[in-house]
Amino acid sequence: QAKNKGRGRYVLFDQSLHTKLIDQLNQESELRKALKEGSLEFVFQPVVNLSSNEVAAVEALVRWQHPNLGLLKPADFLEMAHDTGLILQIDKQAVAHACEYLQHRDLSKDKALISVNLSSRILCDETAFAQLLETLSSIGDTVQGLILEFTEKGIDNIEQVVGCFATLRALGVRIALDDFGAGIASLALLYSGELDFVKVDAKLIHRAEQDLAQRRFATSIVNIGHEQGFIVIAEGIETELMKETAETMGCLFAQGQLLAEAVSSDEFYRQLLAELSAEDVTLTNRAS
Ligand code: C2E
Ligand code: MG
Ligand code: MG
Ligand code: MG
Repeated sequence: QAKNKGRGRYVLFDQSLHTKLIDQLNQESELRKALKEGSLEFVFQPVVNLSSNEVAAVEALVRWQHPNLGLLKPADFLEMAHDTGLILQIDKQAVAHACEYLQHRDLSKDKALISVNLSSRILCDETAFAQLLETLSSIGDTVQGLILEFTEKGIDNIEQVVGCFATLRALGVRIALDDFGAGIASLALLYSGELDFVKVDAKLIHRAEQDLAQRRFATSIVNIGHEQGFIVIAEGIETELMKETAETMGCLFAQGQLLAEAVSSDEFYRQLLAELSAEDVTLTNRAS
């Protein structure tokens, strides 16, 4: 097609490709700079106990205050971060933040778990994985307050990944399978015996709200979860009806705008922690 239109087409194509590459390189060097300066931020979204409305955990979500483009969300830069390998540094900072927080909190006031998203890449990179284990070991028993979330994306060797999960869990950290139902929804991972939580993706929850067959399917996943001894968390709860759907499915915990929006870290430390009761708010898969 392009050939028929003569040489000019090629030049035009090359130029736009060139521009795209330059853009990418600029973004990459800006992200490197942001990582070096520590200017990536994390917002925190609560995971709520549906029966008591208590905050059972908080999930750290990365944000990038870009010098020209404003506040960027993961969708704007995570792909580039994956392609360039910078994702490993983002994840390292997320873990460092969470560990620091866990070490300094007042356990008599705050027993909520803290959840961090990691790229599956960290499980395949020997150096990065060793560093992760070292960081986790360095915080002792405090590590029991930490959840590491992984999606199925990028996982091709399930046995190896399950082995990594086992190593991490032996240190006391908890593992969550994130975005379940958005991808291939691997049963092998569900039956691995190395999961503490499965987070059912917002898309599946939204479909379950609309459609009885989907709801039955999602309910089966919750039942498998309870039989296998892990906790199922519903993601993306935006309306009362979605909340009811999650409850009907048997989910005891959920996350979403309706329940609690993500807040800045300042807000998180100031407001959220003040609200946390001294009561036991740890996650359990038994209804209270
Ligand atoms: P996720 O781990 O599934 O995080 C939940 C996403 O749902 C967040 O998007 C959150 O803002 C959004 N959300 C909150 N309430 C609702 C709701 O009511 N409805 C719907 N539909 N969505 C809701 P966010 O912050 O844009 O993050 C997107 C994804 O980026 C995350 O999905 C996670 O996979 C990834 N991510 C975030 N932070 C990190 C990080 O530090 N490291 C890595 N590797 N990935 C991260
Ligand atoms: Mg997550
Ligand atoms: Mg998710
Ligand atoms: Mg997601």
